[in-house]
Amino acid sequence: MSKDIPDNLVRRTAFPHSVSRAVVTPLQPSVVYASPDPDTLDSQYDGTAFGYTYSREGHPNATVLAQKIDAMEGCEGGLITSTGMSAVTAVMLGLLQQGDHVIGGNQLYGRSLRMLTQELPRYGITHSLADPTDANAIEAAITPATQMILVEVVSNPTLRVADMDGIAKIAKAHGLILVVDNTFTTPRAYRPFDIGADVVIHSITKLLSGHSDAMLGYVAAKAPEHREAIEGTIVTLGLSGSPYDAWMAERGMMSFHLRYDRAEENAAILADHLADLGAKRVLYPGRPDHPDHNRAGALLGPRFGNMVSFEIEGGRAAANAFTRAMPDMAFAPTLGDIGTTVSHAASSSHRGLTPEGRAELGMSEGFFRVSVGVEDISLLKDEFAKGFAAL
Ligand SMILES: *Cc1c(COP(=O)(O)O)cnc(C)c1O
Repeated sequence: MSKDIPDNLVRRTAFPHSVSRAVVTPLQPSVVYASPDPDTLDSQYDGTAFGYTYSREGHPNATVLAQKIDAMEGCEGGLITSTGMSAVTAVMLGLLQQGDHVIGGNQLYGRSLRMLTQELPRYGITHSLADPTDANAIEAAITPATQMILVEVVSNPTLRVADMDGIAKIAKAHGLILVVDNTFTTPRAYRPFDIGADVVIHSITKLLSGHSDAMLGYVAAKAPEHREAIEGTIVTLGLSGSPYDAWMAERGMMSFHLRYDRAEENAAILADHLADLGAKRVLYPGRPDHPDHNRAGALLGPRFGNMVSFEIEGGRAAANAFTRAMPDMAFAPTLGDIGTTVSHAASSSHRGLTPEGRAELGMSEGFFRVSVGVEDISLLKDEFAKGFAAL
């Protein structure tokens, strides 16, 4: 009995030659790539030949995904990271030095706020938070050490709209790096590079991928030296994203424009419905009663997005009754899923603040944020009517 193992048991074999081609982007999980000889490997590293080497430094599924987002943002050379937060990390640690100062919007995504207020100080990087709906407030926060401004176009969860044109002018006049987290707005509604942003960040996890089953981030920089510094930080700190998640996200993105348009259409109708049902307050940039309605119209095209926030009376007990009465609406602290999700700032994103701190931002125990999905609008209206009936 021969104990020899066949050649191809251990050796990787290619697929059989086929005259027809697969229609789906291949998933390439290879961690490492074999080059023909040291000369070729040298030319890969010095950039005279293109080839993958080790997947922490890049892989084809990341390239394919990045190029799709680049095309929407109107840029080149975007980089894929493991999460939206690793994109924020790569930008901060890649572009800032000890002694630098960064200005952040005062209603940034919770973890981005913590990055500025709790992580960066440990590296000797200081910050100020300022109201991005007022470009003068941003300008007033500039110090001689300021290097960067980090803003989101639409704030979470109060949906205030930043004065992007004003902020871009100030960043340019003072030679500051303008970083825009475009997760909420997406390039369907807003393209930060068009108004002079230097760096654009996304949590792909949210609307772009859109199915809550892949976690990734994206970062693109206009200046080649910024891109190089950010890429170096991604590779050295190990912030790169996995091929599987990139492959899943690319699949999700194929329907991004359709999902976005439908969700936005639903959001506008749902916002009015919530007001009709008796919400104490409804926040949707598309409603004339929104404090930034005019700016949203001018800035976003008008694309008012899929996010709606609202407030009910009655404190935590009413909030509990409300979510329990709508078990088919996922009560979950995320956004951008194909299905509608409902979140509650006081028990999740803003739980770190005192009740007084939340009140200052207009977030009582009755404050909810809805990430509207693509369901039939009549189903959504019925679900929320059940919630209000329980109050
Ligand atoms: C979710 C989110 C992030 C972080 O993204 P993750 O993929 O969860 O790490 C950053 N910015 C904004 C605006 C977000 O909504």
